Amino acid sequence: PAPSGYRGRFAPSPTGDLHFGSLLAAFGSWLLARHAGGQWRVRVEDLDPPREVDGAARRQLAALHAFGLEADGDIVWQSGRSALYESAVEKLLNEGRAFYCHCSRSDLATVSGIHRACVARQIRPDPAVRLRVDDGSVVAFDDAIRGRIEQDVSREVGDFVLRRADGFWAYQLAVVVDDADQGITDVVRGADLLDSTPRQILLQRALGLPTPRYAHLPLVLGPDGRKLSKSDAAQPVDPTDPLTTLRAAWRRLGQAPAALAEARDVPDLLARATAAFDPARIPRHDGGPHEMS
Ligand code: GLU
Repeated sequence: PAPSGYRGRFAPSPTGDLHFGSLLAAFGSWLLARHAGGQWRVRVEDLDPPREVDGAARRQLAALHAFGLEADGDIVWQSGRSALYESAVEKLLNEGRAFYCHCSRSDLATVSGIHRACVARQIRPDPAVRLRVDDGSVVAFDDAIRGRIEQDVSREVGDFVLRRADGFWAYQLAVVVDDADQGITDVVRGADLLDSTPRQILLQRALGLPTPRYAHLPLVLGPDGRKLSKSDAAQPVDPTDPLTTLRAAWRRLGQAPAALAEARDVPDLLARATAAFDPARIPRHDGGPHEMS
């Protein structure tokens, strides 16, 4: 295949073991990267120690290995990249695009969730930093799977946090800085992050960074039609039975089951999957683990 400028990634947060929804994001992003003749990177988003589970990152990486999904290049750990986040926030503060916010929880309660300005009644020693979102900040983009998405970030989200009052970097900031720093051209991930994307695009614009293409994969819903989440109900995937799990993920990505029926082992299955993969078959809607649309 011709060399391609495509660079995708999988960016798990180590808040638990790899579950079916995260495997779907890993396999889907891997397939799209391979299909494009591009690269696939793995980035561990270990920025939120209070929510992290001991050993989860290592177990997630071991599971990816068992599923044959090997990263191109070194694995990047966000916990080692504070200097990059710091300089992005400094730049936004210096340019007046971000501000220190001293609001406490009770201050925020008075503004009904949408933050339009710091309304703190008291200065605190550990202010958060927020991006200033001007009125009329409407962001639209074309998602490769979901189609046209539009959000008025000023009305639906407001000024959002870049560095939390507890000193930790916000996901929105780190993901934007890292996707740009790693030269990611295509962000492929679960549709639970669809409504974060307009915030990330605003932040890219504020920082003068390019906007990648986006593709949001269908969420895997529980039998009750609700999203499975990493922290509660979702069962970890079984890395000792990779063929069964990869076949289930393949079906959930709308792909023809027959293509993998004869696969003998993981490398053989991945070779067959790469050859047969058809991005146009990825469902646009969320559904149960075995549902096809
Ligand atoms: N770390 C995020 C998560 O596990 C995903 C980030 C992304 O793909 O942009 O939910």
